[in-house]
Amino acid sequence: MTTVFPALFVSHGAPSMIIEECPTRDFLLRLGKEIGTPKGIVSVSAHWTTQEPTVTMHPQPSTMHDFGGFPDELYGLKYPAPGDPLLAKRVLSLLRAQGIAGDGDISRGFDHGAWAPLMLMYPDAAIPVIQLSVQPHRGAKHHLALGRALQPLLEEEVLILASGSTTHNIRDFFGRELNSPPLPYAQAFTRWLTDAVVNGRQDELLEYAERAPDALRNHPTPEHFLPLFVPLGAGGTGRRIHDAYTYGALSMAAYLWE
Ligand code: ZN
Repeated sequence: MTTVFPALFVSHGAPSMIIEECPTRDFLLRLGKEIGTPKGIVSVSAHWTTQEPTVTMHPQPSTMHDFGGFPDELYGLKYPAPGDPLLAKRVLSLLRAQGIAGDGDISRGFDHGAWAPLMLMYPDAAIPVIQLSVQPHRGAKHHLALGRALQPLLEEEVLILASGSTTHNIRDFFGRELNSPPLPYAQAFTRWLTDAVVNGRQDELLEYAERAPDALRNHPTPEHFLPLFVPLGAGGTGRRIHDAYTYGALSMAAYLWE
């Protein structure tokens, strides 16, 4: 029997989330078991931005430590999941079928937006993973179209896992503690997002920059929010599966479409 996999958006937070005791870490540790084991994973991480949609082609990608100023322990972590050049080609052909040009990258490894949640969800690193890049200059509608193009993958038992941050004001993140109370403007944005996702208000979501409360303050740059539009485009009915905050400014909310 074929399992149809859901499409997910998770907030990856600071890289230290992997080693810090917090509700989001516990949530991600449970999530992989709840979702089950897909045949492959397409990770759409905020930390890979390119001009054109690009997929990783390396059969055994390296683990990139693409962050600075965090505990030494994090720089020794590796996520040795295999790549999947065939799945990467399948993604490019699905995009091409919808008139979207894409490219392959044969050398790139996994960035922390991809491997941090995966390390908690699937610690065995046995499931092949490819990454699909984000194009911040092309806006929400483009990422929704990427998701729509990739919808057939869910029936091929592939998990679409977008990784960004529900709110992402880095200036307000600095100087706050892990357990600082959530900032009201981050809470208001998260409430708006949850309401729009749960009620399937796709048009409103596409206009988030104009319609969400304090959109620009929550996302001074769009790359941590745009990954959400890929599972939104790929999946069906949406729901929130996690709600928490770290450092006051980072909503760690996660959403699932099935
Ligand atoms: Zn990030």
